[in-house]
Amino acid sequence: MQIIKSIDALRAAVKPLAMQGKTIGLVPTMGALHDGHGALIKESVKNCDVTVVSVFLNPIQFGKNEDLDKYPKRLEADAKLAESLGADFVFAPSVAEMYPDGDPLTLVRDETLESMYCGAYRPGHFRGVLTVVSKLFLISGANHAYFGEKDYQQVFLIERMVRDLNFDIQIHRVKIVREASGLALSSRNEYLTDLERSQALSISTGLKQAKETFEKGERRVAVLRDVVIKSILGNRGQVQYVEVVNQKDLQKFNGALREEDKVVILVAAFFGKTRLIDNIELN
Ligand code: AMP
Repeated sequence: MQIIKSIDALRAAVKPLAMQGKTIGLVPTMGALHDGHGALIKESVKNCDVTVVSVFLNPIQFGKNEDLDKYPKRLEADAKLAESLGADFVFAPSVAEMYPDGDPLTLVRDETLESMYCGAYRPGHFRGVLTVVSKLFLISGANHAYFGEKDYQQVFLIERMVRDLNFDIQIHRVKIVREASGLALSSRNEYLTDLERSQALSISTGLKQAKETFEKGERRVAVLRDVVIKSILGNRGQVQYVEVVNQKDLQKFNGALREEDKVVILVAAFFGKTRLIDNIELN
């Protein structure tokens, strides 16, 4: 496995393989890899001839007061994990390599979710994500790309971007990988103290309870939301949002759900200073 830092070098390495008819899979990450990322890499290695894992902490998707500076960085360990899972290339460019002219003048943005859910609380986040993911698609020339459902809004927006802009790439969703406790794996879990980590279980526990409540026949949106909110508030979490939304377009449901509705609950909450997201599909 090769670690590549320049765009030209990645193109030079991948193009001849693509010319031979090999399929290229891309797994975009911000590093500090864990088994959640591992699931994406495994899926790419299983389905594609060549797997490129990108490790790039993308500054333009972070707000001024967010955790860009303290985000964990460990390229060597990341490369080892990627190699052990069968990846062929780790693409780890510098910020100057990706943004040689400083902040880009040209951005890819959506006009709906940028003001909803995570978009409302993280201004500029999704346009930073869509912009860097577009760049990574163009740089890698990948035919397939893998994204986790942990970031439900993100994968929705990327699928939509690919359709809207005719990127010649197939997007694959990978289910959320959780600890045995239920906590969704995240590089940000490293920020949690032991106490906060045990309190943060209330997110996945609340989501599971909401799903059980739904399965018992409850269809009132407010009741389902409340199950999750109570679980988090009861464990000293601060809720940023809990919303019951349509899997297809991520629009909010109100009132009561109908039998045909496909539903996912989206959550963001703080434990101490750490912001965590999670979600669960009800059907
Ligand atoms: P990140 O490094 O946080 O930008 O994540 C890179 C990719 O890994 C994204 O597509 C995430 O959705 C995915 N990912 C992160 N954590 C998990 C998890 N626990 N389960 C599944 N996918 C994940």
